[in-house]
Amino acid sequence: MAKVAINLSTGALQQEEVIVGIDLGTTNSLVAYIHPETKKPVAINDLGRGTIVPSVVHFTQNGETIVGNEAKEYLTTDPANTIYSVKRLLGKSYKDLGEHKDYFGYKIIDDDSEGLVKIRAGDKFYSPIELSAEILKELRERAEHALKTPVNRAVITVPAYFNDSQRQATRDAGKLAGLEVLRIVNEPTAASLAYGIGIDPSEEKTIAVYDLGGGTFDISILSLHQGIFEVLSTHGDTYLGGDDMDRAIINYWIQENQLVADTLNEDKNLQQELRLKAEEAKKALSQQQIYTSKVNDIECGITRHKFEELIAPIVAKTIDSCRQAMGDAKLKPEQIDAVIMVGGSTRVPMVYETVSEFFGKPANNTLNPDEVVALGAAIQADILSGNRKDILLLDVTPLTLGIETMGGLMDSIIPRNSKIPTKAGRQYTTSIDGQVNMKISVYQGERDLVKENRKLAEFDLKGIPAMPAGFPKVDVNFILNADGILKVEAIELRSGVRQEVEVKPQYGLTDSQVEQMLMDSITHAREDVSARMVIEARTTAEQMLYQVERFLEKNSQHLTEEEIKMTQENLKKLRDVLPSGDKDQILKAVDTLEEQTSPFAERVMQISIKQAMAGKKIE
Ligand code: ADP
Ligand code: MG
Repeated sequence: MAKVAINLSTGALQQEEVIVGIDLGTTNSLVAYIHPETKKPVAINDLGRGTIVPSVVHFTQNGETIVGNEAKEYLTTDPANTIYSVKRLLGKSYKDLGEHKDYFGYKIIDDDSEGLVKIRAGDKFYSPIELSAEILKELRERAEHALKTPVNRAVITVPAYFNDSQRQATRDAGKLAGLEVLRIVNEPTAASLAYGIGIDPSEEKTIAVYDLGGGTFDISILSLHQGIFEVLSTHGDTYLGGDDMDRAIINYWIQENQLVADTLNEDKNLQQELRLKAEEAKKALSQQQIYTSKVNDIECGITRHKFEELIAPIVAKTIDSCRQAMGDAKLKPEQIDAVIMVGGSTRVPMVYETVSEFFGKPANNTLNPDEVVALGAAIQADILSGNRKDILLLDVTPLTLGIETMGGLMDSIIPRNSKIPTKAGRQYTTSIDGQVNMKISVYQGERDLVKENRKLAEFDLKGIPAMPAGFPKVDVNFILNADGILKVEAIELRSGVRQEVEVKPQYGLTDSQVEQMLMDSITHAREDVSARMVIEARTTAEQMLYQVERFLEKNSQHLTEEEIKMTQENLKKLRDVLPSGDKDQILKAVDTLEEQTSPFAERVMQISIKQAMAGKKIE
C-alpha cells in the first residue's frame, strides 16, 4: 500500500514508506533500512542507544513491559519475570525442548502436550509469539522514532534451519507488532546480500556462512544460481556461543582466585558482575593481548594466550560442524567461493583465523558482524519494494493459503509472498477414536480464524480405516503452479486413501480486496491472536480433561481417596473455567491439574513394571 508520509526532519513528502529489515536474534536484535540518499543499508541507532537491542523482555510489578538493555538488568534481580532467548521457543512444543528445559530462568508451562509452549510470568501466560512481538514492537518504535516516519512493513530474518512452524510463528509475531511481513529471509542469505553477493542475477557462487552468536552456532552452505539462494546444508549447535566463552573465563578466575563455587552460587550480584566482567575481558582481548581488572577483591586478569587455550574446545566444535556441513553438501573447502563471518563472537581473532584456515581462504569480515544480517535484510526489503530496477522480481502469491484446523483456526501452508511455483505440506491426524472421514477446508487470507478468510474449496477424505485418535497420518499437500493454480491433495499414509481438488485462488479477487484483507489482518492482529490463544488453551484443556478422566477410570485403585477427591475437584475447576474465554484462567487450571496429577502416571508405571517383572499379566 503506498501511503504518503511527511519526513519531519526535511519536510519532504515521501511517496513510498520505508520497509525495514529486522534481525530478530536469540541474544540481540537490530533493525536496518536503506538510507534514501546514500542508498546504503544502515543499522538504526535511535537516541544514540546503539544499534543493538538485547532480545530480553521484562514485565514489571505494575504491568509494564520493558525491552532491551533496561530489561537485561532484571535478569538477575527478577529472573521469573524477565524473558530471554525466546527465539529458542518459537514454534516449539514443550517436548521439543528435550534436555534443555533447565536452561531457562523463567517458567515454561509443562502441560506435556504436543501444543506450543507457553511462558508464565506473574499471573499471565504468554506465547513465544507475543514475546517476540514485544521485541519487534520495540524495534519498530525505534525505527519510527529515528526515521520520523511510520514503519508498517518489514523483512524479518530467521536461521536457515527454521522449520515451517517456526517461520510461521515469526510472521505472526511481526503481524502482532503491527508489521506487514513481506518476506521471511534466511539469515545466511541476508548476510550474503550485505556483502553484495546475490545482487547480480548472473552470479553463480557457493558460499559458506559461519555465524557464532551469543548462545548459538550455525554454519550454512548456500548455492547461488540465477538470483536464487539454495540452502545446500546447515549444521551447528543451538547451545554454543559467546556465553560459553564468558563461562570459561569465569571458571578460570574462580580457579585462579581459589573461590568456592558454592558461595558464588548464592551471591547473585557477584555472579552477574563476574559475568559482565568476563564479557568485557573477552571483548577487550579481541583487540589487545592482556586484560586486568577487579571485582571486589577478586583479581580478574587474563591474557589472550590463556583465553585462546580456554576456548579452543569451543572453536574446535564449530569446525567439526563445518566439516559435517561440507560433507552433507558434498563439497570440498576449495569449492567454496566466499566465506562470510556473522555474529559478535566472530570478532575473536582466533575464531576468524581458524575458520579462514579451515576453508583455505580469508573469510569476509569487513562488515560489522553484529549488524550484517540486519543490513542484508534491509537490502532484501529494498529489492521487494521495487526500488532496485536492476533486479527481477519473481511472481509471488499475494495471500496466505491454508486449511482449517481444530476450533476453526487457520493453519497456513503456503505463506503470502512465497515465490511461485511452490509446494508445501503438513501432516495432520484425527481427533476422535475411530474417525473415518476428514474434512479438508481450504482458505485464503491472513486472519487467524477461518471465518474471516476466503473459502476456496472443501472436500472429504473418506475411507480412513478406523483407528484410535492420533494414529492416522494424513499428509495435506499444496501445489501452486506457475499459472497460479492450486492443487490440494490429502493422503492417509497408512491406508493410501487419497483425494484432491484444484482451484484458482486469484479468481475473482481484485487488488483492492487483497489490500483490504491485508489491512484487516494488521488492524485485527491483537484480537486474532487472543482468539487463537483462547482456542488453543481450550483445546489443551479438553485434551487434559479427557486424559485425566480416562486415567481415573482405569487406575483409581492405585490412588488414595484423598488424591481422587483432589483430582476431581481440580477437574471440576477446569471444566468450570473452560467456557469463560479467559485463557490465563484456563491455563492456570490446566497447570494446577497437571502439577497435581503428574506424579500418578509415574507411580502407575512403576506398579505396572513391578507386576510385569513378577510375571503378572498387565493390560
Ligand atoms: P545472536 O545472533 O545470538 O543474537 P550476536 O551475533 O549479537 O548474537 O552475538 C553476541 C555475542 O557476541 C555475545 O556473546 C557477545 O559477547 C559477543 N561479542 C560481541 N562483541 C565481541 C567482541 N568484540 N569480541 C568477542 N565477542 C564479542
Ligand atoms: Mg544472529
